[in-house]
Amino acid sequence: KIRTRIAPSPTGFLHLGTARTALYSWAYARHHGGEFVLRIEDTDVARSTQDSVDQIIAAMNWLGLNYDEGPIYQMQRLDRYQAVIDQLIAQGKAYRCYATPEELTEMREAQKARGEKTLYDRRWRPEPGKVLPTPPEGVKPVVRFANPIEGDVTWDDVVKGPITINNREIDDLIIARTDGVPTYNFAVVVDDWDMRISHVFRGDEHVNNTPWQINIFNALGAPLPSFGHLPIILGDDGLKLSKRRGAVSVMDYAANGYLPEGMLNYLARLGWSHGDDELFSAEQMISWFDGTHLSKSPAQWDPAKLDWVNGHYVKQIEEGRLAALVVEQLAAKGIAVTAAQVQPKVGLFKDRCATVAALAEWLLMYFAPVTPSSDELAAHVTDAVRPALAALAERLAGVTDWTKANIQQALKETLTAAGLKMPQLAVPVRVLVCGRAQTPSLDAVLEHFEQKKVLERLQSL
Ligand code: GLU
Repeated sequence: KIRTRIAPSPTGFLHLGTARTALYSWAYARHHGGEFVLRIEDTDVARSTQDSVDQIIAAMNWLGLNYDEGPIYQMQRLDRYQAVIDQLIAQGKAYRCYATPEELTEMREAQKARGEKTLYDRRWRPEPGKVLPTPPEGVKPVVRFANPIEGDVTWDDVVKGPITINNREIDDLIIARTDGVPTYNFAVVVDDWDMRISHVFRGDEHVNNTPWQINIFNALGAPLPSFGHLPIILGDDGLKLSKRRGAVSVMDYAANGYLPEGMLNYLARLGWSHGDDELFSAEQMISWFDGTHLSKSPAQWDPAKLDWVNGHYVKQIEEGRLAALVVEQLAAKGIAVTAAQVQPKVGLFKDRCATVAALAEWLLMYFAPVTPSSDELAAHVTDAVRPALAALAERLAGVTDWTKANIQQALKETLTAAGLKMPQLAVPVRVLVCGRAQTPSLDAVLEHFEQKKVLERLQSL
């Protein structure tokens, strides 16, 4: 049975990189009719918070990455890890190490001075014919895994292809700290084993951990999962995507008016492809995502492409839902409106919007005062056009049935009477009524205003 997992550390929001890993793990499980598990790796007690768990779950829910099991918390499994550690110690596959941090620093300095790689020298590892020092009083030991000394670790990475590391390159890893809490590389193996994970997808930064983990799987007699290490995501400046250079939290994108469909579609393409397909639903991705066509090279975050993808969904989703999202965006700006007020207007503007936030920005003209800049006023609302604006205001005041056709009629009559061309009148009207020089078709835009408000703004000269 195909079982995948996402195993975030709850030390912050759901990062875009983790979201992509979660998406691939989820899609792979769904593609195969398997299961997807959420595991919370909270052994870094000082930095882990429940608030972060809640944020991660909220982001997974928002993206629609539903999990079949979890959240499973590592800190609730300490007894299980302890039992496995005791068993490994009893079997001579792990041992207690009493070396102090000072001793280890000294050891590494000496290795460096000799031009050697800094590796733990196995001083506390029981070996045939070796006499171990007496454990010092008052020093709490760590537990180390007795890594094989010889031979290679090899796996066929789902993303990177075959990888081989010689055991001489890696040392006896600490698997439990002095307080008994297991380290990542150990807990992850016990968990992936207990949770019967068949495929591990995770970020590239873990590729160096995998040889240790494989050795621990083997020491436990546990079946090995497949591993796939996804390349890093770079920012558009070619550097690692980071908080300092823009939003990296999935929920920040939600707050900024991106749609889950757009985010999911964009993340899917960030390191995976299906022919030339750029726009596809979660269902399509599931039917296509079989673990092939994963890119080996770093992905580049491209805000313009994200906007293009998201804009596609802004156009496509049901207008009632779009209106409800606009209401939220406006509420965040302190403007209280109802979906019923918003919905009739979204169709007119949505085609030119990459995000719900951009759409809300357009609709602001209907729900908040507009403040044309003095430059715009000076450029467009000239003395030459004022008489025509006044004439238009008069004609519009006389319209009894406020429809697009009647507004259009008033505009036309004013143009003819004043001997102007449409843009000469329409641009100043836009500046005064809409607060911007460009909008969709003016009669359609005006129709969605209250007549009174249009007159007020035209007369605000
Ligand atoms: N907690 C690890 C991380 O967030 C999980 C790595 C893994 O999937 O094994 O990077």
